Amino acid sequence: MKSPSLSSHSSPSFMYGIFSYDIAMPRVGLKHGESILDLEVVSLLGYFDDLDIAPAVFAQPVLNDFIALGKAAHRAVRQRLTELLTNESDAFADVHDQVFIHESRAQMHLPVRIGDYTDFYAGIHHAENVGRMFRPDGDPLLPNYRYMPVAYHGRASSIVVSGRSIRRPSGQFLDADKKPVFGPSQALDFELELGLIIGKSNPLGEPVPVNEAESYIFGVTLFNDWSARDIQRWEYQPLGPFLGKNFTSSMSAWVVPFEDLSPFRVAGSVQEPTPLPYLQTTRPGHFTLELEVWLQPADGEELCICHTNARNLYWNFAQMIAHHTVGGCNLNVGDVLATGTISGTTPGSYGSLLELSWNGTRPLHLSHTETRTFLQDGDTVTFRGRGFLNGVRVDLGEVAGTII
Ligand code: MN
Repeated sequence: MKSPSLSSHSSPSFMYGIFSYDIAMPRVGLKHGESILDLEVVSLLGYFDDLDIAPAVFAQPVLNDFIALGKAAHRAVRQRLTELLTNESDAFADVHDQVFIHESRAQMHLPVRIGDYTDFYAGIHHAENVGRMFRPDGDPLLPNYRYMPVAYHGRASSIVVSGRSIRRPSGQFLDADKKPVFGPSQALDFELELGLIIGKSNPLGEPVPVNEAESYIFGVTLFNDWSARDIQRWEYQPLGPFLGKNFTSSMSAWVVPFEDLSPFRVAGSVQEPTPLPYLQTTRPGHFTLELEVWLQPADGEELCICHTNARNLYWNFAQMIAHHTVGGCNLNVGDVLATGTISGTTPGSYGSLLELSWNGTRPLHLSHTETRTFLQDGDTVTFRGRGFLNGVRVDLGEVAGTII
């Protein structure tokens, strides 16, 4: 008999996305090594007939209809796909070329139609670092930080799929003489985050209890909340981020089902003071996931400039959802909740250039000739992520963007 960890290890990693090729319309695919399994064609060929799932669900340019089927349907599809892929050559003997597309032939699309996007600030080491730089005379953390998962409502329309170029934004910021000027941002940055894709709606007026909150998550992506620090610094008081954030965010093309994170569940750091009752969870809600930032100049080598872990978040996913909805706010299928920048406690684990270059005062050395404080045109930023624990592995894929 196989041990549980060995069988998990050998089962295919599940990642859902939206792809197209040639003149075919975008549809739902499953990543399978360097290939994509075309779930519309698999469905039309009858492989899901006894599962009572209409092929039309997979013939969509977004995952929303598939997500809305719910966890029981997702489990049934997954079990069927696992059976098929375990005996791939037999199962698809006559139709192999119909159901598999090589990744290099496919174009990837934004995986969900995002109704609303919220960006949290749950990375406590990032929040402390930013507090030290932006408000040097006060406590690094504002008084509310350890009482609630702070967030702002972001802009859903400007979220793009991994691989899309990022246009440097222009806006207002203060020049060296503290006078407001307008021009291209001189302090363009990334923010290393995870993006949660909401899988179930709650009715308006009905909060989601914290211990049910994880059932509202369909999946997880890597998420880059590109930020213009000079614009942000001048505009953010009193109402929070606006043009410093709303020009673009990037998310990975492939979505990892939330259930795939369960082998990596760990307790977060002790929350002191004890959260109010509506934020108290009965089981550990953090996940140990390795996260990296790679930076490649236009004509240089790719270099890893940050290595950190998702367990550095102060608030967990369930607490974010419980807090978001406690006043009755309704979440919808396809909404995205991002975690906030995930930094560790040491310089090599900071999830933004603002922290890595300490607000531009400590330039990063990329090579003998190249340094960075903030991003330059032509720079490509790639986040990668994975879990590896007790012989079990999950790949979170990547999200990349090049500054133009
Ligand atoms: Mn952010």
